[in-house]
Amino acid sequence: MQEEGIGPRGDEKFWKAIWTMKVPPKVRHFLWKFSRDILPTGVKVVTKNPQRSDECPFCDQKETQHHLFLECSWSSQIGRGSPWESAFTVHGSSDCMKLMAEVMKHESLDLEESWAMVLWAIWKEKNAHLFNGPKWPEDEILQRALSILDDYRKNQGPEEAVPGDA
Ligand SMILES: [Zn+2]
Repeated sequence: MQEEGIGPRGDEKFWKAIWTMKVPPKVRHFLWKFSRDILPTGVKVVTKNPQRSDECPFCDQKETQHHLFLECSWSSQIGRGSPWESAFTVHGSSDCMKLMAEVMKHESLDLEESWAMVLWAIWKEKNAHLFNGPKWPEDEILQRALSILDDYRKNQGPEEAVPGDA
């Protein structure tokens, strides 16, 4: 299979693009884990804690990253009707890093950053459901995620150091 324009796992440019993305640092950390497919989803957690469930908290499917962000009917409602909804469908891939790389390659910076916020919000809300944490009203998830990005853009301080940048 051709992997044109998308580097291998160790692609420095790709990781640098993730670490320099103009989104809050916690979202960058999330994206890094998302792209490496190492977020502690149900299927990952259950290998270490067999008493835990590997099911998605919103449906009865197995909770993989691909399921949670691309297949689950709960999360797909969150971005519905938004400009980046097509980013999920057009670039949809079972490989999260490839999906991320495709979005970064083909979409505008603004869409890329907003999209990152939505992915992060989906993950944050999933954990809130799982651990009975404070939840955002479902119909406000999108707006709240984007207003965090807005605030971040307005208050952006000096550039932080990029890990691995010697
Ligand atoms: Zn689900």
